Amino acid sequence: MSKLFAKSTVAASVLLALSGCASNPASESTPTPAPAPAPAGDDAVAAAPDLGSKRSLASFLQPSSEQTCFNRDTEPYTAVVDSHFHPRPFGGQAIPPETLFAYLDKAGVRFINYFGIGQILDMKSDCTYYLDCPGVSALPSIKNDFVNGMQTKAFPHDNLNIILSMTFIDLANPQGSAEMIALYDKEYPGMFKWAGELNVIKQALLKNNHQPATMASIDQWAPFMKVLRERGIPVTLHSDLGNDAEPTKFLPLMQHILETYPDNKIVWAHMGLSKELSKMPPDKHIAIMKGLLDKYPNLMLDISWDVLYNSYHEFGPQFVAFFDEYPTRILPGSDFVAAVNKAPTQYAKELDVTSRVNKFLGDEAFRHIALGENYFRLLDLPYHAPEICE
Ligand SMILES: [Zn+2]
Repeated sequence: MSKLFAKSTVAASVLLALSGCASNPASESTPTPAPAPAPAGDDAVAAAPDLGSKRSLASFLQPSSEQTCFNRDTEPYTAVVDSHFHPRPFGGQAIPPETLFAYLDKAGVRFINYFGIGQILDMKSDCTYYLDCPGVSALPSIKNDFVNGMQTKAFPHDNLNIILSMTFIDLANPQGSAEMIALYDKEYPGMFKWAGELNVIKQALLKNNHQPATMASIDQWAPFMKVLRERGIPVTLHSDLGNDAEPTKFLPLMQHILETYPDNKIVWAHMGLSKELSKMPPDKHIAIMKGLLDKYPNLMLDISWDVLYNSYHEFGPQFVAFFDEYPTRILPGSDFVAAVNKAPTQYAKELDVTSRVNKFLGDEAFRHIALGENYFRLLDLPYHAPEICE
């Protein structure tokens, strides 16, 4: 545990070099209006709620049958995996690593994907949240990935398994992406084991010069998709299904991706939902998801983002039945964005909201989704979820 709070002046100086006054997005596409001064350091850690499981990271290394069985009556329903997490904001300062690790530790999260945020705001701008500054470009970049690579190396910890992710790929202009992966291989050998979140079409970003992928650009992904496929690297795609006026407007893009790259491990972020699409009847949405899951065995769905839960039927009975029917195809996540001025309680809050559906799942789905079994098998990690107590 002591290593968790190890100090590093190297990474700290890298992080401090990125200055600016951060606004306070509740999650990637959710601004919280008033930026408030947040406590720092030990005060922030003390103020963070202690939600979590006391199971250590090491305990998950044992075969399932040798771990203490998981008691759903006394242990937390919050997921031990956060497969959709942004340790750095769109611009400005991030929560310092020691504080962030302490939040995660207290929340009982042991496995986490570090998504750089694939769209950094223009360096010439002081803006820190894209919705606050329409017209300022927010474009794919290697910047956050490289900081994340440095940070995970410089701040070692023994209770958290961080998976680094490549978020630089511009899906509308994919030329040179495979060559850029070669640069990552050189600078961070073997360290990046996920790709994304990459934006196919994200309506919320259109005012920040986001260029959606097209049928033609998808065909040009082949070189980098080949690298990902050969290495078994999953790719998380943010691809809006549509909007309330045209609920399936962008579905053909995702269909074309799945048809063209059926052997890639593709994770569809938020099941295609967004703030622009909140009124679709669950049955219709679920029918589309089932059709694609049945046809494409390598497709997984990510159910991250608290706004989804709040605005989209609170993942009611239809979703619970759906997740129970496809227990091996769902990944949990918060979509938290670690801007420096977030309240210490905010991460636990978002993890709690995105985990509420877990309470209602059957044991099999709970074990696969919340206790990490799906995540471990997707990444071929040496970890195992505990069995659920009788
Ligand atoms: Zn996200």
